[in-house]
Amino acid sequence: MSKMFDLSGKVAIVTGANTGIGQAIAVALAEAGADIAAVGRTPAEDTVEKVRALGRRAEIVSADLSSIEPVQRVVDETLEKLGGLHILVNNAGIIRRADSVDFTEADWDAVVDTNLKSLFFLCQAAGRHMIGQGYGKIINIASLLTFQGGIRVPSYTASKSGVGGLTKLLANEWATKGVTVNAIAPGYIATNNTAALQGDETRNRQILERIPAGRWGEASDLGGAAVFLAAPASDYVQGHTLVVDGGWMGR
Ligand code: NDP
Repeated sequence: MSKMFDLSGKVAIVTGANTGIGQAIAVALAEAGADIAAVGRTPAEDTVEKVRALGRRAEIVSADLSSIEPVQRVVDETLEKLGGLHILVNNAGIIRRADSVDFTEADWDAVVDTNLKSLFFLCQAAGRHMIGQGYGKIINIASLLTFQGGIRVPSYTASKSGVGGLTKLLANEWATKGVTVNAIAPGYIATNNTAALQGDETRNRQILERIPAGRWGEASDLGGAAVFLAAPASDYVQGHTLVVDGGWMGR
């Protein structure tokens, strides 16, 4: 394996690692050599099994990231269980749909607290450790709604726009400290999160017509981008949001 993409000896936290994009990224990082702290509400037993089958170490770290209460413990437990921390993938996220005129404070808070507030404070907790060791790679999972408005998803759009902004801000602050901070914006990816859209025949057809690649993305399509942003290959890439969308944004 090229040293540029070699993650041997590195430890990665992946949040929301039990399913979908988080699981695919955890497995891709492990294939490149990283050990994995699989963080989330639902214990990521399947992910841990897949990572261990690749000969890498993997541990479950239980945490509900709807509040920032567990973020320091997530970092401490990773260090205790795996003996290091070099990569953080902030993937855990939720969405709530309703017209803006009817949108509730509860749906605002739930999404912004999980997708943006916990993401920032996990960057902070991990970032302190990474700055201390002079090395770290942070990857935040953004969205096409980091760039576009969307419809009926006000708190999600606000949170994902915020992820793009915070990624740039943290990159500015930490670029001289050996820490890169970048994001990945997935397009339409077939996961539990998008099952309703895939199941809606009209919406599904409209979506497929607009994707130049002519298909939904698979969670595994995000693996290469994550390995790149976690590896030495991207050491001079800072504050960037890498779009992985089968061409949607360029259409
Ligand atoms: P899934 O719904 O399949 O997975 C979401 C993950 O986030 C799950 O592991 C879930 O854990 C975890 N999570 C949610 N809330 C919490 C919480 N409070 N504490 C800890 N973990 C939590 O979605 P995807 O894999 O599709 O999405 C992953 C990321 O990618 C999200 O940030 C999403 O916004 C983003 N994204 C997805 C796109 C897509 O098309 N699929 C497009 C653009 C962005 P649990 O199972 O326990 O709830």
